[in-house]
Amino acid sequence: MKYLEGQQEQEAIKLIEKAADVAKKGLCLRAKCGAVIVKYGEIIGEGYNAPPLNSEEHRTCLNEYQLPQKFKYDRTCCMHAEWRAIIDALKHKPEKLDGSRLYFTRINEEVVKWGKPFCTVCSRIILDVGIAEVILTQQKGLCLYSADEYNKLSHQYKDEEK
Ligand SMILES: [Zn+2]
Ligand SMILES: [Zn+2]
Repeated sequence: MKYLEGQQEQEAIKLIEKAADVAKKGLCLRAKCGAVIVKYGEIIGEGYNAPPLNSEEHRTCLNEYQLPQKFKYDRTCCMHAEWRAIIDALKHKPEKLDGSRLYFTRINEEVVKWGKPFCTVCSRIILDVGIAEVILTQQKGLCLYSADEYNKLSHQYKDEEK
């Protein structure tokens, strides 16, 4: 990982702002997230988090689960912004995914400057479809991860690291 600087940072800020704009459409009751995927300056996919089909009927945001012991599978509520962005790219510009970069952000009133790699569902899909890099917003600035590193760090993430 590294923090972006100078011109690279300036360009990335614009794309994180775009991701934040997309996040405003989020329909999740827990958080609003946005993702854009970019290849050579072109946005090839975007997504926000929401119930499947954007439908109330499929909303599970506020469910509490009694999970079986040692149950390790993901039951978080909505379609993740990253999945939506990847599906969008696969539908419209699939040939451009390889070597692309994903920008992710979460917003409240404004961009949330938190963001450690932790979602192993996303990190595996990102790696698997050939996205090369991920940008997150953090306290110290915009942080760039290779997809491989992002996946490894997500698997290492522990709750207390928040
Ligand atoms: Zn939700
Ligand atoms: Zn995720």
